[in-house]
Amino acid sequence: MKILVMGPPGAGKGSQSQKLIQDYDLSHISTGEMFRKSYERGEDLGKKAMAFINEGNLVSDKITNEIVRKRLMKPDASRCFLLDGYPRTVTQAKALDVMLSEMNSKLTAVINIVVDTDIILERMVGRRVCKACGHTYHLKFKPPQKQDVCDQCGGELYQRKDDQIDSVRNRLSIYESKTKPIIDYYKGRGVLVNINGMQSFDAVYRDIKKALRDLT
Ligand SMILES: [Zn+2]
Repeated sequence: MKILVMGPPGAGKGSQSQKLIQDYDLSHISTGEMFRKSYERGEDLGKKAMAFINEGNLVSDKITNEIVRKRLMKPDASRCFLLDGYPRTVTQAKALDVMLSEMNSKLTAVINIVVDTDIILERMVGRRVCKACGHTYHLKFKPPQKQDVCDQCGGELYQRKDDQIDSVRNRLSIYESKTKPIIDYYKGRGVLVNINGMQSFDAVYRDIKKALRDLT
């Protein structure tokens, strides 16, 4: 099973992906995580990538394709994987097709989680993260017991730079112009499924599982 999860920022791709990875025993290929780790290791690639991300911009196709290609070469990725945060542009989608065909492989499913813009803004701008342990909260949907303090460890909560309203708006407009065209790119290939993301976590997950059953 080779799955790609798409949708605007804040559509819940991350948490749905986590559950799919567990249930189907998939290798998780997350460009965001690879960039963060590369940055933490002090690598140039990570530094360049995080500079794009912190401004709410897309990391360049060249850097992104390079890190994904390296990851796909590893043995665990040749079997089953879930791609998270990639491709973000049609250029990247085309590059992915080339990489997969070189491996005599192809995508099983492209899951597109659909959420309205208003709901995305509400979800993202309210998000807070613990500086110490990384636990996430939401001012409206999952508030901490004490304002700005982590329930788990007492650490200070903050708003990630890419969750601030200007950054979110920027990411949404980039999504509309660069990432959404990928949906058209995959249309007509029999792999694309649209999932209503404006439901509970469990309902979204149930719809994804059903779509995967129908495709495999
Ligand atoms: Zn904490």
